[in-house]
Amino acid sequence: MSYSDEFVVCEQCGKKFVFSIEEQRRQAELGFDIVAPDTCPDCRQLEASVSPGLKAGIVKWYRDDKGFGFIVQQDGSEVFFHRTGVTMDDMGLVLKEEAPVWYELIMTDRGPQAVNIHLREV
Ligand SMILES: [Zn+2]
Repeated sequence: MSYSDEFVVCEQCGKKFVFSIEEQRRQAELGFDIVAPDTCPDCRQLEASVSPGLKAGIVKWYRDDKGFGFIVQQDGSEVFFHRTGVTMDDMGLVLKEEAPVWYELIMTDRGPQAVNIHLREV
């Protein structure tokens, strides 16, 4: 599979942005289909902070002693999560590196955070 930078027009604001080779590789590595996002990074960030609903991600790591970790989001960025954001039933399974998960994003005063995290079937 070969990749090349792709120019996409944002559906929200009409701005042109690059869907880069790095982002495409990242999606492929994470096992996602390679799909150009509909919206530019700015609009996506805005959308993420306001839109509820489940998003697909991968657990990057989790530190049991600290009680928190990070999830890699579909756009390749990382989001913080706390143990309390994980659905109890899935606790043991979700908190493994590279576990595929669903999550919701909320805005906290310390930035975006993943909550309602549970295992995603792949
Ligand atoms: Zn936009």
